[in-house]
Amino acid sequence: MSAAAVQIRELTKTFGGGRRLFGAPHHEVKAVKSVSLDLAKGETLAIVGESGSGKSTLARMLVGLEEPTSGSMLIAGQDSTALRRSGPKAFGKRIQYVFQDPVASLNPRKTIRDILATPMALLCGYEEPRRRLRMKELLDAVQMPEDTLDRYPHEFSGGQAQRIAIARALAAEAEILVLDEPVSALDVSVQAQVLLLLRDLKTRFDLSYLFISHDLAVVEAISDRVAVMYFGEFVETAPASRLFANPEHAYTQRLVASAPRIRKA
Ligand code: ADP
Ligand code: MG
Repeated sequence: MSAAAVQIRELTKTFGGGRRLFGAPHHEVKAVKSVSLDLAKGETLAIVGESGSGKSTLARMLVGLEEPTSGSMLIAGQDSTALRRSGPKAFGKRIQYVFQDPVASLNPRKTIRDILATPMALLCGYEEPRRRLRMKELLDAVQMPEDTLDRYPHEFSGGQAQRIAIARALAAEAEILVLDEPVSALDVSVQAQVLLLLRDLKTRFDLSYLFISHDLAVVEAISDRVAVMYFGEFVETAPASRLFANPEHAYTQRLVASAPRIRKA
């Protein structure tokens, strides 16, 4: 057993490449190319890179939304495929995914109460009145009022909806959150609030974050360590302070140089 929350080894994902009935074969896209990465317990590791570099594909493989072409993933020392096969409880209680578009990620026909109740019942086996108490705790943790529960997702702003989506991820009591561009769809002022909230929740619930973003200013605000992804590969991985002060790889240097809000000493 290892202390690492996540260990990714030589993970590859290739899309397409199959034959069409007529015409040329499908174009093959190597979205993730033999990537290896460790996320330590309690760490916030950011994955940065331009759109199309393979960040979401990597994240989606990690949470089981996409099958790897090859390679392996260990979650808290256990093979993630085996963990998923052993059922939603074993898997969903370890790792949860937070999507970029908060409103779209919440079922529009369900109240927030139902949205939060599902993982509690399914993954934790909680019944009333424990569920009700836990909902109160979660709303309090994400700083939303109690009357949130009887409302529907469309009644909330993007920032509020993302708080609710984060509460849903916490409802499963998973120790690892994969956050895929969690503030990219939000206004800059709201981004800062949600980042502060995420920092607070991490300490409070002893979480580990894999934090995906194309925005270096956001990454600098939250991460301990940064992995830079470029065309499906990591070109540089370093502690955040080192990476921003002294980027080594030419691509990282370009990224840092083009990020307006980062001070370059
Ligand atoms: P990012 O999240 O960094 O923007 P993605 O992981 O979404 O990047 O995409 C990486 C590459 O894989 C892109 O070239 C994208 O077009 C391709 N891709 C992603 N998902 C699919 C899919 N389901 N089918 C085919 N190609 C895909
Ligand atoms: Mg993406």
